Amino acid sequence: MSELSFAELGLDPAVLEAVTAVGYEKPSPIQAQSIPALLAGNHLLGVAQTGTGKTAAFALPLLSRIDASVTEPQILVLAPTRELAIQVAEAFTTYASKFRQFHVLPIYGGQDFYPQIKGLRRGAQVIVGTPGRMLDHLRKGTLKLDSLKALVLDEADEMLRMGFIDDVEAILAKTPDNCQRALFSATMPPQIKKVAQTYLRNATEVKIESETRTVERISQFVLPVYAERKLDALTRILEVEPIDAAIIFVRTKAETTMLAEKLSARGHAVAPLSGDLNQRQREQTVEDLKRGKKDIIIATDVAARGLDVSRITHVINYDVPYDTEAYIHRVGRTGRAGRTGKAILLVTPRERSWLKTLERATNSPMEAYELPSPTDLKKMREQQFESQLLGFAEDKKLAKAMSLLDEIAERNEMDMAMVAGALACWMEAAQPGSLPLEQPEALPVVSATPPRRDRKGGRPGGFKNGPKGGFKKGGPKGRGGPGGGPGGRGKPPGKGGKPAGKRPPRQA
Ligand code: AMP
Repeated sequence: MSELSFAELGLDPAVLEAVTAVGYEKPSPIQAQSIPALLAGNHLLGVAQTGTGKTAAFALPLLSRIDASVTEPQILVLAPTRELAIQVAEAFTTYASKFRQFHVLPIYGGQDFYPQIKGLRRGAQVIVGTPGRMLDHLRKGTLKLDSLKALVLDEADEMLRMGFIDDVEAILAKTPDNCQRALFSATMPPQIKKVAQTYLRNATEVKIESETRTVERISQFVLPVYAERKLDALTRILEVEPIDAAIIFVRTKAETTMLAEKLSARGHAVAPLSGDLNQRQREQTVEDLKRGKKDIIIATDVAARGLDVSRITHVINYDVPYDTEAYIHRVGRTGRAGRTGKAILLVTPRERSWLKTLERATNSPMEAYELPSPTDLKKMREQQFESQLLGFAEDKKLAKAMSLLDEIAERNEMDMAMVAGALACWMEAAQPGSLPLEQPEALPVVSATPPRRDRKGGRPGGFKNGPKGGFKKGGPKGRGGPGGGPGGRGKPPGKGGKPAGKRPPRQA
């Protein structure tokens, strides 16, 4: 992470205000390097992958340089897929939210021309689209580039792979000569280098280098999951892993509190840790984790720097880190004091390509994390329920409770199984999910390898429900067993009147 703050980078005040509102704490490394160069008007060649924060790396400075009051296309972004175009357009909309009368228009194939033409007529300062459709509009004259100030090629190597490179070059050739250009690509195949040489002048080159460092004593796992199912996946991981204490990394301050609230509602002893807390509050949170008052901390990179708590058995990367350096720092929060630790990384389909870089940098392959099957999970919950029940076999109040229920049974001619069943149903009504009645839902499997896409008919987002174990490296089962047998995490059932020391987590 860079030491410069967003406020020190010299962004337009409205853009800075929007970034502050989103809750980013610090510029990511690619942002710290790209923003000054683009603000200075330079061309830029960035070797960066999705997940590094590259969208903001170009969007923030380019938005800072345009005249927001002119409602003509001033920034054009070319993206390989419809899905990425939409995401980039959404990011621009967020970062431009403090401008008045500002429009960002996504344009992609497969959608009707008419709404796109209407949008273009209405006027938009930023156009983000796939090359084919963009070229169609240029040829039809519905898109004009006279006021264009900047052009970005996002995921250039993907556009090459998908056969769009001729369209890209045709568009590049139509951009005004004085237009600022930026090219981002995860890799630099010769054709992309050639495009860079032809269309970028004295470009600033930005590359996030990472030293290779071995991550010892930490077993590393990866679980590919759709973004909208991340919370479900996390809930299951927390249910099945034999966790003593865990740290979960997210990207924004807002997300630390949001996720902490969600996990707290699911019965976990959890606290957020971000730059929003003052020094004293942060120290208190860490102290709570050390003393076992909290078991889980949801943290941003900045807040968790240097955190040293030996009972952390698990690091969960809920959001991927910006670079391998940050990854290594994160996973280093476990495996302290000579112990072993486990790191689990959630990746969305868009972030998969990042994995290879990570494996190279840490010099260790990641194993596929396997969530338990719904049948296994149900069995586990049943065992847990049973062991919680047995935990009351010697409870002080058991005799009184039995005689009360005996009387009820006798008066109503019920057998004890029925009474017990009715009690359990009562418990379930009071706290839905406390009885393992339903078979849990299977989370959809995401392939770890990018699916093949063809030029026209391909799945635009490149998402695919791959076969189970779409990972190349199979590896042993990714979990540490279903929580150490009955009783889940080997913790004794609670004393006192509650059915367990900890409320059973609600079913995901
Ligand atoms: P990208 O690599 O552009 O796809 O960005 C990946 C994710 O990182 C997006 O969800 C962004 O909202 C988020 N992001 C970008 N920059 C920052 C930052 N400086 N701090 C926190 N999150 C960020």
